[in-house]
Amino acid sequence: PFDVLVVGGGPSGATAAVYAARKGIRTGVVAERFGGQVLDTMAIENFTSVSYTEGPRFAAELESQVRQYDVDIMNTQRGAKLSRDAESGMISVDLASGAQLRSRTVVISTGARWRSMDVPGEAEYRNKGVTYCPHCDGPLFKGKRVAVIGGGNSGVEAAIDLAGVVSHVTLIEFDAELRADQVLQRKLRSLPNVDVLVSSMTTEVLGDGGKVTGLAYKDRTTDEQRSLELDGVFVQIGLLPNTEWLEGVLDLSPRGEIVVDGAGRTSLPGVFAAGDCTTVPFKQIVVAAGSGATAALSAFDHIIRTDVP
Ligand code: FAD
Repeated sequence: PFDVLVVGGGPSGATAAVYAARKGIRTGVVAERFGGQVLDTMAIENFTSVSYTEGPRFAAELESQVRQYDVDIMNTQRGAKLSRDAESGMISVDLASGAQLRSRTVVISTGARWRSMDVPGEAEYRNKGVTYCPHCDGPLFKGKRVAVIGGGNSGVEAAIDLAGVVSHVTLIEFDAELRADQVLQRKLRSLPNVDVLVSSMTTEVLGDGGKVTGLAYKDRTTDEQRSLELDGVFVQIGLLPNTEWLEGVLDLSPRGEIVVDGAGRTSLPGVFAAGDCTTVPFKQIVVAAGSGATAALSAFDHIIRTDVP
């Protein structure tokens, strides 16, 4: 069996693996796609000490750093079930392939995926004007016109954030009213360069073949089709944690995030979690990496305090 089995190979899982391996304990990583969300990222400019890199390169460096240690990497394998033997404390992870892995501790770092609008043009112009991360990509649209899709807290926060960087923001909400907290809505409405459209359904992302040029939407009160000219579309309609396989096993928040404390502990002894799949606020590479280190150190602490074989 492993001492620490990490499930997930993004920034949080890779960091957890490095921290665990450096303790000289048996460490394994199971990942569906080693690298995680950064594989889908273009420029990364907010990971301190690396002023500029690109997602695929960052992912390759994560993997090569993990490979400098004696870590058993099981790539293209998916964790499908987790259970803990109450008597021995041993944790089992069943893989979708049918294999079963056993470990004294587990760090779950399965990340999350952005909910997409599923309209024509969205996939085609991803990273060519369509983006999901205002903290990452806001500065790319300095002085330009953008739309934010979604009037929940993340959409309204994104619009407020972007209004300070871009020339103009149109916030588009499907429902008749915004769902964000009142304080955020007040702040939003006080900004001179923000328009809010409610009861509006985005129907297509428009582009010139190379980049985004606009957005088509339907006014749901009149059924009229309209369009906007702009350079960027920030989709903020939810982040879905990859935790479906843990329902009923670990405590999850109403959004499906694994509930963790400040040390990365979950509701099950010996099981820790880190990164975008957890309730840790702010979903960013540097935050995910830091929480991966925390979870691995907590797992090591758990091992030296228990007498599981
Ligand atoms: P992830 O990166 O999501 O990795 C999860 C890992 O778990 C993957 O290896 C996945 O294959 C694996 N996995 C999932 N389910 C299972 C399973 N059941 N079994 C086994 N493995 C599983 N952040 C920044 O700080 N700066 C940026 O510039 C930036 N740009 C971004 C651009 C885009 C387009 C996107 C989508 C995100 C961006 N982010 C950025 C956010 C950042 O990528 C995430 O916060 C970060 O990757 C989270 O790391 P993680 O390790 O928690 O999860």
